[in-house]
Amino acid sequence: MTRIAVAGAGAAGASVAYHLALGGARDVLLVDRDEVAGGATGKAMGGVRQQFSTAAEVELARESIRFFEQLGPPFFLQVGYLFLATSPAGLVELETRMVLQRSLGVPVEPAALPGGVRGDDVAGAVACWRDGVADPPAVTRELVRRAVRLGVELREGTDVAEVDADAFVVACGPWSREVGERLGVSLPIRPLRRQLLETSALDLPPDLPMVVEHETGFHFRRAGDRLVLAMADAEPRWGFEEAVDESVYGDRLARLEHRFPAAAGARIERARVGLYDMTPDAHPILGHVGDAVYCACGFSGHGFMQSPAVGRALAELILSGRSAIDLSPFRLDRFDEGGEVEQAVL
Ligand SMILES: Cc1cc2nc3c(=O)[nH]c(=O)nc-3n(C[C@H](O)[C@H](O)[C@H](O)COP(=O)(O)OP(=O)(O)OC[C@H]3O[C@@H](n4cnc5c(N)ncnc54)[C@H](O)[C@@H]3O)c2cc1C
Repeated sequence: MTRIAVAGAGAAGASVAYHLALGGARDVLLVDRDEVAGGATGKAMGGVRQQFSTAAEVELARESIRFFEQLGPPFFLQVGYLFLATSPAGLVELETRMVLQRSLGVPVEPAALPGGVRGDDVAGAVACWRDGVADPPAVTRELVRRAVRLGVELREGTDVAEVDADAFVVACGPWSREVGERLGVSLPIRPLRRQLLETSALDLPPDLPMVVEHETGFHFRRAGDRLVLAMADAEPRWGFEEAVDESVYGDRLARLEHRFPAAAGARIERARVGLYDMTPDAHPILGHVGDAVYCACGFSGHGFMQSPAVGRALAELILSGRSAIDLSPFRLDRFDEGGEVEQAVL
């Protein structure tokens, strides 16, 4: 019997293991040196959107949304995802993306701003109301529960190096490069620090969508009676260090108060730092990468929302040699082809 070891029990590994079992694999090990959702998945914002700028990533997100819809509340709240532009040029970019997204069947549309969101400096907005926000660790634990029920063996506190298997799937997020090296595969993945800030309790509309400022990247979502805020650091901070940077609190609260005046007076009560697993072009590495080695990593900040489709596609590829979704845009050897690698979009 073929034993498949999936390394990493974050959203990606959990989904691969679950879909392998659904596809009929009988000897699947889900191995994590820490615990389920102990990595980036446990830190994530939980944004679930189909509004990407390349067709390949729109497709991954579109094929994932049905899974989130089936899970429903409290795992997934379909409150929508709204991008607003504060400049005519920004609005043209959003509208250009909208044309691509709509051509791929994603119902993005021009949108009015939700109640409470300041609009006197806004040129326009687009939204997809099938998008929303989810609870990544809860979704991942649910996937693992289903996988185990289908026969997957979960081993927490176990390094994949301790495990014998006929095939390996590297789903170790920011740690994928070191795990790949041990399996003889060179993965161009670097950890990038990403910080989320959580406000004090506020009186919030229950249906507030994820709100994203297109030009600045500043965005916020409701999580219970609080808002979670994020924005890329002015200078990218590479490495595994996860210390909170309190120096940005004032700036982020000012941005929030400007965009959502009802949050005036809010404080930052909690902060957490997690790691993006960045590739040189900010797109993931998915598929067969070496002798009986497969990858589902390098998600560059988008892996939770893509994980249902990624898990299904990887499982199909491993079990039958081909996947319904075309994974060729995500092959590892795109980095060897000598051409210019598009700069990472943070
Ligand atoms: C702050 C932040 C916000 C984010 N926001 C979003 C968002 O809004 N939407 C979205 O889609 N994505 C978001 N992401 C990205 C998202 O969290 C990940 O892409 C997604 O959860 C998939 O993670 P993963 O399973 O690939 O990796 P991880 O969750 O990091 O899991 C990797 C696992 O591998 C294990 N591991 C490492 N080494 C070994 C080893 N040698 N042997 C065994 N196990 C090992 C680790 O313990 C870990 O549990 C965010 C990430 C961060 C940090």
